Amino acid sequence: MQLIPARTKRDVLGEEVEIPSAILLGDVAYPQLFSQGTPPSFRAYYLLSKASLPSPTLTSEHKSITVRPSLFQMTKGAFQESLKQVWDGLKKPQPLTLLRSNTQLECSDIEAHECFNGMTRVDRFCQKVFSVQPTGEDIGHLMRVEIHDPYAFNGACWSPMDKSVHCGDHDPLRFNSIASNPDIIAHEFGHAVTYYSSNLDYVRQSGAINESLSDIFAIMVKHRQAKVSADAPMASWSIAENFLSIEGRNFPLRSMSNPGSAFRAHPLLGDDDQIRHMRDYQEDYPLEKDHGGVHKYAGVGNYAFYLAATKLGGPSWKIAGKIWRCALVRSQRAPTFSDFATETLKAVEDISFKIPKEPIYQAVAQAWRDVGVTFRERGVGTMLLEGTPPLQDSSCC
Ligand SMILES: [Zn+2]
Repeated sequence: MQLIPARTKRDVLGEEVEIPSAILLGDVAYPQLFSQGTPPSFRAYYLLSKASLPSPTLTSEHKSITVRPSLFQMTKGAFQESLKQVWDGLKKPQPLTLLRSNTQLECSDIEAHECFNGMTRVDRFCQKVFSVQPTGEDIGHLMRVEIHDPYAFNGACWSPMDKSVHCGDHDPLRFNSIASNPDIIAHEFGHAVTYYSSNLDYVRQSGAINESLSDIFAIMVKHRQAKVSADAPMASWSIAENFLSIEGRNFPLRSMSNPGSAFRAHPLLGDDDQIRHMRDYQEDYPLEKDHGGVHKYAGVGNYAFYLAATKLGGPSWKIAGKIWRCALVRSQRAPTFSDFATETLKAVEDISFKIPKEPIYQAVAQAWRDVGVTFRERGVGTMLLEGTPPLQDSSCC
């Protein structure tokens, strides 16, 4: 791993910038945040990132920023390997160096190779399971990551501004490699998939759903890579395993099977504060803290998915994953957990499965009850009637 010395960060006006801890955990630089009480430090970070981008990219992105983006839907079963690029952002804002791509194979940076491998997993998962391109139709088949990015500090983010994932590596004593961690790469591209699907607001409950969906995306990519069923004893439900370093021992960043238990006493992050039940949700949680607790409260969605997927058994991406994906595509910009849970149950009604629906419906409904999320039940008595046209997989799943 390449060690990056500490550096002073200054914003575009030359003032010293405090990088918020939220950046540590896989954030999304959504421009619309600025109208929703964006913390000054996050704005400074955003401006730093923006200042480092080439202006043509900014111009075209700004034009489309108010338009809901769409995810390019492929023919089911089709696969065309995306162009993948890993760039070295260490010397920003100087021009970046291309480290690894589909055609550039020679590179001495181990993290660039491992990042590329993580991108390949995501590419295959998106196309073969969801029948979508990971980064939207207007950029073709390009997947782009900047590693060693000093503006990403200790974390990673997906930025719709340059349609790229940014990985930092500021503090190698407390955090292990970000770019080498396939869960983190998958999590960030999961934000891209969400952005091009429903572009959920990155604040409070919709932000927590947004974060949860990226963890769910990452865990499905991992399960598929490992060829394990959701309920298999060897199936991992940890996100970013070995990412945190605490007194020489490594810990994951999050636990989906037991939110709030991933780590203790990290020198910068403290204890894992994720919750798993809505009784611990604070409506008035400060907006300036992690955009209203989007990572903290993502544990509710993560645990609901874990409960549903393990109850259903089989590959996590085949039943539960389809349901959650369908609910995402149908969601409005700012769903509550209740709204999203209702969408998952409507998805059960509409998706065509090869097994009876009633146990699926009950498993999903019970999962949401177990995390304290209320939902609107609809069509329980009619969903099993024959004659209802099933939703085609390619329409949203
Ligand atoms: Zn995230």
